[in-house]
Amino acid sequence: MRPFGYTRASDVADAVRLGGTTGTKYLGGGTNLVDLMRETVERPAQLVDVTGISARIEERGDGSLMIGAAAKNTALAEHRAVRTRYPVLARAILAGASPQIRNMATVGGNILQRTRCTYFYDHAGSRCNKRQPGEGCDARHGFSRNHAILGASPACVATHPSDMCVALAALDATIHLRGAGGERRLPLVELHRLPGDRPDLETNLQPGELIVAIELPAPPPAARSTYRKVRDRASYAFALVSVAALLELDAGQVKDVRLALGGVAHKPWRASRAEAALRGQPATEASFRAAAEAELADAVPLRDNGFKIELARRTIAAVLAELAGDAA
Ligand SMILES: Cc1cc2nc3c(=O)[nH]c(=O)nc-3n(C[C@H](O)[C@H](O)[C@H](O)COP(=O)(O)OP(=O)(O)OC[C@H]3O[C@@H](n4cnc5c(N)ncnc54)[C@H](O)[C@@H]3O)c2cc1C
Ligand code: SF4
Repeated sequence: MRPFGYTRASDVADAVRLGGTTGTKYLGGGTNLVDLMRETVERPAQLVDVTGISARIEERGDGSLMIGAAAKNTALAEHRAVRTRYPVLARAILAGASPQIRNMATVGGNILQRTRCTYFYDHAGSRCNKRQPGEGCDARHGFSRNHAILGASPACVATHPSDMCVALAALDATIHLRGAGGERRLPLVELHRLPGDRPDLETNLQPGELIVAIELPAPPPAARSTYRKVRDRASYAFALVSVAALLELDAGQVKDVRLALGGVAHKPWRASRAEAALRGQPATEASFRAAAEAELADAVPLRDNGFKIELARRTIAAVLAELAGDAA
């Protein structure tokens, strides 16, 4: 590991002032960033520790929930409001990593964790456009079991690894940011980018911008929700495919549905086509399957991950059938 400086921010303004310097990175629990520094994939000159600021989880009068970016993953999953009103989020967090890592990891760090593409980590032996723009991508024609089937590009076929973000995408979360230009808000689904020809640009954040909080609108009162993660091992493994879903029925018909997919794209994938195909339709297995087919219509397999297309279709249909219960 290379030498680096360390400062602990006292509040949000202090963090933004310190974080605006070139070569500086914010430090959450360090469970991803420090690993990347050990591998010399990340080489910050200075770390600004933001674990001491904005860790509150606050229920507000309008039914929304405001989550400080420094809140630990465990604290969020265990919060009463999350367990009772946003079970899809609690399940998604608990499906990720291990209890020890979730105790360290912050919400802001989870959102900005980097891909688990093994070629990205292999600094010494592999070409990677995300690490070194213009170098090439060894994953595209290499071992691609865990890689993307939606929204990828010739430059990069990596997936976003977060489980929590898939639930946040389905829940219409908004990210509160603070940077040199002041405060702004961004829907979570607009935070991460598809790779295009610049996979090194992973988000729409400005340099030095800090995630301060995540806002969840009140969940639709009649909606049932869940998260299902399909992976190679029962624990300590990233998603091959995951589905976050909220479903609201009225007299056997789909009144409202929110769906997001993980493990399939460079960003948490809001399944808007499936949602549009389902609204107003009877809550039947045939409708669920047709919606899943619509969402995966443009999927493109790589050498080793063609199975993900049918796996995603089946997981979407199975999760919706589970939420519909006897109505399906
Ligand atoms: C063995 C292992 C298994 C794992 N399995 C899973 C899994 O199955 N599912 C899953 O979702 N995750 C998994 N993870 C990843 C884990 O969830 C992340 O490492 C963790 O959430 C990152 O949080 P952190 O606070 O430690 O972030 P850090 O490592 O501190 O930071 C990550 C990034 O976020 C930036 N950052 C941090 N806070 C802020 C902020 N407030 N504003 C702006 N930028 C910020 C940092 O600069 C850095 O770029 C696993 C990790 C390990 C090590
Ligand atoms: S898929 Fe993306 S992260 Fe992986 S090697 Fe290719 S460019 Fe790098």
